[in-house]
Amino acid sequence: MVRPRVGVLALQGNVREHAAMLESLGAAAVAVKSPDDLSRVDGLVLPGGESTAIDRLARVLGVRGPIVAAIAGGLPVFGTCAGMILLADRIDGGAAGQRTFGGIDATVRRNAFGRQADSFEADVDVAALGGAPVRAAFIRAPAAVEAGPNVTVLATVRGMAIAVERGPLLATAFHPEHTGESRFHARFLDRVRAAAR
Ligand code: GLN
Repeated sequence: MVRPRVGVLALQGNVREHAAMLESLGAAAVAVKSPDDLSRVDGLVLPGGESTAIDRLARVLGVRGPIVAAIAGGLPVFGTCAGMILLADRIDGGAAGQRTFGGIDATVRRNAFGRQADSFEADVDVAALGGAPVRAAFIRAPAAVEAGPNVTVLATVRGMAIAVERGPLLATAFHPEHTGESRFHARFLDRVRAAAR
């Protein structure tokens, strides 16, 4: 497949930077707001934003069930920040009634770096990507504090996992799309191309 169609869940949050990054890597980026939109993509990005709002809107708009089913069916999904929370099977510090889509056997803690370090940037080594460290922007970022045996931890900060992978699912606690870091999106697009073949 030459030009995969990749959806960016566009209910709330940072949609535009992801779309630009995906387009720069040769994908066609499309906004996903409905089950119909979802049915026409080869992969899906869950952006940063507010995981509680995305969860609520996804249910109201009837897109939650189809996303959960698509993940179970092997759709490649890449979640950043709030999107990492949404991809986790378990949530620590969720709002009352907050749910995730799930898919990655891990517990993700909201605002894991606390109030003092609400937002920060750091250079993070990610061996799986090779080359230079990743310049990562953390904005009220989550982190995985526990993960099952099928989950690969790609990077840690302060002893917590900030990039994880499980099959075609990839999640980062930070925002690579904010710092011009394209290697995670490229890795995700490899999964998209492989799954759509
Ligand atoms: N703290 C936010 C949440 O719980 C995530 C922050 C972000 O996506 N930048 O949803």
